Amino acid sequence: AKEEGRNNFQFYTQDMEAGVFRRLTMEANLRRALKRDEFLLVYQPKICTRTGRIVGLEALVRWAPPGKPLVSPAEFIPVAEQTGLIVPLGRWILREACAFAQECRAAGRPDLTVAVNLSARQFHERALLADVAAALTESGLPPANLELEITESMVMSEAEEAIETLRRLKAMGLSISVDDFGTGYSSLSYLKRFPLDALKIDQGFVRDLTTDAEDRSIVAAIISLARSLGLQVVAEGVETADHLDHLAAGGCDLVQGYLISRPLPQDEAQAFLRHHADG
Ligand code: C2E
Ligand code: CA
Ligand code: CA
Ligand code: CA
Repeated sequence: AKEEGRNNFQFYTQDMEAGVFRRLTMEANLRRALKRDEFLLVYQPKICTRTGRIVGLEALVRWAPPGKPLVSPAEFIPVAEQTGLIVPLGRWILREACAFAQECRAAGRPDLTVAVNLSARQFHERALLADVAAALTESGLPPANLELEITESMVMSEAEEAIETLRRLKAMGLSISVDDFGTGYSSLSYLKRFPLDALKIDQGFVRDLTTDAEDRSIVAAIISLARSLGLQVVAEGVETADHLDHLAAGGCDLVQGYLISRPLPQDEAQAFLRHHADG
């Protein structure tokens, strides 16, 4: 047993070292990846539950190291946050997404919105407003076609400062949605004061919607809250027809998830839009 304990400890420290090493390696790799243009965006459609129309696309970043499988943002976004690399990466994401949105408009979808996820560091960075403005100007994308996804925790810490940033972004003409809504810690009185356009119900509440009465209550409560605040409601992680039926009947405005489509590379997203030209 003693022997075992020591071995376990050894494994533990090795694991920790491996963790630090992994992070440092990841940081160096990300820096290089940014220089070498190894990131790409995939796009997931958002559908209106009443009309079935595609109203928008959410841009999701991927890292494609040459000769290796794609790396999930869940792995590298936290490292990019900690190291500050999220700022230049986020700038690239904004530019790339706006340019693609403008292409979609030119291809016959002038009203399509593209949503870009902001990270906490990016949101609190001074350069954000200038970066957003530059991405819009360079691409020629009208601000109304850009949506930014933020999270509750990003705005609830330093709420006054966040309200000011959101006001300025809104003044530019774009829209703001709160991602993963219900998983963070929102003050309802602040929620009223934030200039928002939509709440996105976290996929954790959608998953067991049809079997779990509590999740069902939470989803109904979020929809009702959004209604009373005059906000749109979007559900993500919609994987089954039952999810969709339930959400549509409950008054959810937009849905997003594998049932409709996985996130798609640019050309496939364009093709998806063409095939759903009137629906
Ligand atoms: P998120 O913003 O909540 O994005 C939704 C995630 O759920 C995406 O994972 C998407 O691929 C996945 N998803 C979509 N539909 C379904 C479904 O029906 N079922 C299930 N199980 N999952 C579904 P992804 O692309 O791996 O992104 C993970 C997270 O990484 C995102 O969560 C977001 O927080 C972050 N992220 C992704 N792209 C960016 C980005 O460009 N910038 C920043 N700052 N963060 C990003
Ligand atoms: Ca999102
Ligand atoms: Ca989300
Ligand atoms: Ca999430």
